[in-house]
Amino acid sequence: MQQLGELMYKRIMVFGAHPDDEIVMACAIAKMAAEGVEVTVITMTDGSEGYPDPKLKNKIVALRKKEAKACDRALGIKNREFLDAPDMALSNSKENLKKCIKLIRKYRPEALFTHGPEDVHRDHRNAHALTRDAYFHASEPVAAELGAPCKKPWLYYYKSASYDFKEVNYRLPYVSFEVTGYAEKELEAWKTQRSQYSVFRKTEEDFNREIEDIKKNRKKVFISFCIAETNTVNQFLENKEK
Ligand SMILES: [Zn+2]
Repeated sequence: MQQLGELMYKRIMVFGAHPDDEIVMACAIAKMAAEGVEVTVITMTDGSEGYPDPKLKNKIVALRKKEAKACDRALGIKNREFLDAPDMALSNSKENLKKCIKLIRKYRPEALFTHGPEDVHRDHRNAHALTRDAYFHASEPVAAELGAPCKKPWLYYYKSASYDFKEVNYRLPYVSFEVTGYAEKELEAWKTQRSQYSVFRKTEEDFNREIEDIKKNRKKVFISFCIAETNTVNQFLENKEK
């Protein structure tokens, strides 16, 4: 499948079902933020089921909010909004849709990044559907109390489209973004998620060692995003012709 274009924006918005989902594109976030792009992350659920130990059940939501803030600092994320939908029960409801439309109209991103459609996690699939629906409605002259309609942003999937980019033949067009020099940012961001260390099966020392290794062995690194909508592809081709 064709590879298209560059990612050059002033404002981007990253949707994630859980407090750490944006980290899969941490290298791109860190590079864009360092270059002056305003990055806004929308965390849709409260992450309340992400406790590895029953003793953490009542603390996990507050803990993960704190870790999300640490991640924001590590990557240069300027704004983060929490929708606080219940973890494992995110729904593409009218209420959630309106919240997403309102946020898109508030921050007016030029590009949106979200989960792809092919995902094992129900919250990720619903986050995908919610983002797509909000992306469409935010630019329509409807539900005016949610803010002025914005210009239709570009829509990208950072994960779970075309089998996580492992397939040779991409079913959707994609863009590759060079993130050389930022490869360690993903690990630095995961390192901030202390409550999830047992899920990662890593210790702080593991992270530190791996980060040092990456810094020692610099190589060219790219990250790929699926370009989601046919009209987005058309938009790109139109712009290119000008
Ligand atoms: Zn998730």
